Amino acid sequence: MTILLTTLNARYTHASLGLRYLLANMGELQEQTKIREFVIGARSTDVVEKILAFRQPGQKFIVGFGVYIWNVVETTQIVAILKRVAPDVVVILGGPEVSHETSDQEIIRLADYVITGWGDISFAHLCQQILRGPQPLMKIHAGLQPPMNDIRLPYQLYSDQDIRHRTLYVEASRGCPFKCEFCLSSLDKTAWPFDIDVFLAEMESLYQRGARLFKFVDRTFNLNIKTSLKIMQFFLDKLAAAPDDPVFAHFEVVPDHLPDALKEGIQKFPEGTLQFEIGIQSFNPEVQSLISRKQNNDKAAENIRWLCEHSHAHLHVDLIAGLPGETMQSFAAGFNKLVALGPHEIQFGILKRLRGTPVIRHTEAFQLTFDPQPPYTILANKDVPFADMQKLVRFARYWDMVANSGRFANTLPVVLGDAPFENFLAFSDWMYTNTDATHKIALDRLAGLVSRWLQEERGMEREAALALVSSDYAGDARHKQTSSKPAAEKTTAKATPQRQSRHIAA
Ligand code: SF4
Repeated sequence: MTILLTTLNARYTHASLGLRYLLANMGELQEQTKIREFVIGARSTDVVEKILAFRQPGQKFIVGFGVYIWNVVETTQIVAILKRVAPDVVVILGGPEVSHETSDQEIIRLADYVITGWGDISFAHLCQQILRGPQPLMKIHAGLQPPMNDIRLPYQLYSDQDIRHRTLYVEASRGCPFKCEFCLSSLDKTAWPFDIDVFLAEMESLYQRGARLFKFVDRTFNLNIKTSLKIMQFFLDKLAAAPDDPVFAHFEVVPDHLPDALKEGIQKFPEGTLQFEIGIQSFNPEVQSLISRKQNNDKAAENIRWLCEHSHAHLHVDLIAGLPGETMQSFAAGFNKLVALGPHEIQFGILKRLRGTPVIRHTEAFQLTFDPQPPYTILANKDVPFADMQKLVRFARYWDMVANSGRFANTLPVVLGDAPFENFLAFSDWMYTNTDATHKIALDRLAGLVSRWLQEERGMEREAALALVSSDYAGDARHKQTSSKPAAEKTTAKATPQRQSRHIAA
């Protein structure tokens, strides 16, 4: 064994698709290549020790690290220690975090080689050169993008353990044709599909091995409707053949493109089997134009409402605070509009300056001030001063705990009232004043705090507030979504993640 592929995943349940692509495409070096994944938070020295345990005496040892915005700080420490205790180990970096702005990164200074962009084929090629010569002269190598059919698919490399216990990431296409300036995919300018029949054959094999939870990382699942329908039909066939052992599929979709044929397919999915992540980011046309995001807001709203009312899909919709031109007022209006549409979750993100993204062209005009440390979150801009941005960051955190968690299905509508953003911001400010914490608030304590807020700030009677909050504990979800959903077969999906199950129950 001479080559180790490694990364720090955000959680154990996230299996790295990128490393498996590299291993699948190692060619004749595959036999001597292994994967070892770690999880954020591991001690750097322990990780280095475990990496070095793979080294064989007298042999060259190459370690390839997948570097992402969430692991770059810890990976930098690991590479620093590794190069100190074993300077002869050859370190190759790859991944989005090291694919741009390569001249000013400590981790790149420490490494031997870097592959920017696509690594599928280039990593194996670079290893060949290192092991067999001639030695590569350059440190930074621009990864070659091969024809899609030349990339070997990695799905057989998911182990039985992965299939049983981890989220399986899959992709039917790469890239995105849209140009939203805060997003790394905007640099792609187009999307490249894999051969759909070859891809579905791989999905079949995963399914036969027991996989039931499929998370598609395609940036826009509903770009090519013919392909989307084929993929959906694959899952519908599985659901029809084994309704008691259902699959759960997650797709990212653009909200303003749901033709009738797609809607028909979506309607056939029973509860707990389908999830859509929908990027709205902003409902403000001026902001959209500034960041080059093309979106028909009316169509997007109409489609989200249709999905809420006529499908069983679990909806997770993304908004971003801190974009150039977005004020507190315009963000609040967008948030309230989205809440009124009724998605199960609103992912309230704060703008981050991802390396390589063109959003920085607005830095001067909009006084964009980003944290210099990963994940490079925006701290302030012309329209939202630091203190307000901090309030938004806390809002996002409490929103996750109270709303997205699905733990307060009955209480949340009462907290939000008829001005969701304003009321939840008041709740969020009160929470921070009273706890000085945004993390590690146990559920019991959180429930007590919600009940206290309803009494102190809303004037609710103690008994009424306690009864409301405890109805959530008792699972008595009285605030059902009003809808005219089709009578698709109900299912208790074993593959449905817990949080989504709570939302469905509400
Ligand atoms: S935000 Fe979504 S639609 Fe826009 S470029 Fe990124 S992936 Fe594409």
